[in-house]
Amino acid sequence: MKSIHAPAQTRKAALFVLKFFLFTVIFTLCTVVCVYIFRSCGTRTHSSSDDIAALCVSGNHFIIDAGHGGVDGGASAANGTPEKELNLALSFVLRDVLDILGYDAVMTRTEDLMLSDDGSGSNKLRDLRARLNIAKANPDAVLISIHMNKFPDTRLSGLQVWYSPNHPLGQTTAQFIQNDIKTYISPDNNREIKKADSNIYILDRIGNPAVLVECGFLSNVREAQRLSDDTYRRKLALVIAAAASRARSGHNRIRTEQENSETDQ
Ligand SMILES: [Zn+2]
Repeated sequence: MKSIHAPAQTRKAALFVLKFFLFTVIFTLCTVVCVYIFRSCGTRTHSSSDDIAALCVSGNHFIIDAGHGGVDGGASAANGTPEKELNLALSFVLRDVLDILGYDAVMTRTEDLMLSDDGSGSNKLRDLRARLNIAKANPDAVLISIHMNKFPDTRLSGLQVWYSPNHPLGQTTAQFIQNDIKTYISPDNNREIKKADSNIYILDRIGNPAVLVECGFLSNVREAQRLSDDTYRRKLALVIAAAASRARSGHNRIRTEQENSETDQ
């Protein structure tokens, strides 16, 4: 006789199928939005300040900054996958999810290239200044920079968010992302947000609310495998987008309430 109680394994399997279905639906939506954007706008690339200026349309709510690019591959996994590729893949999904949520988001790069401004200095410095210039031209936008970590101790793992001390919304956004990652993806992640110093060029110099998300350690074989997985990256992007959205809408609500109370006085 069959038991009326489903075995735990059956429930787990059903839960897995449900999760897989939800991610499939979201991925399809992201793909549709992506195709629409590329058809209507064309592929956006830039390598000079003139091109960067074209990205600075008013009203952008978020700047998605895929770290590294071109000859600057960033860190690399044991299998040779460069950080720059994973950063860009995750950034595309993040941009699309924010778009679905109703935000305008601009990306600092959509191709495998280094940026450059018209100034002097090393290619890396010119690349960083060009990213900073995009932020300066969109002062109301929250910048989310996507990176992957690497450390000699290959046991280290876990996403960690850095924030710029130059705008309070940066710290709030970082805290929301770090909390939600622990709640929805990695319960064992006990890392805490960190305030950036001069070692993180963009966060140190930017005036916008800004965070840099180190999505995990490529030096950890298991985490590198997860970060190379499309489904895992989509899940990360979803959680980052939802957390950043909540932080931004909460900040706007408080600012509006403050402005209203000042008007009343
Ligand atoms: Zn990096």
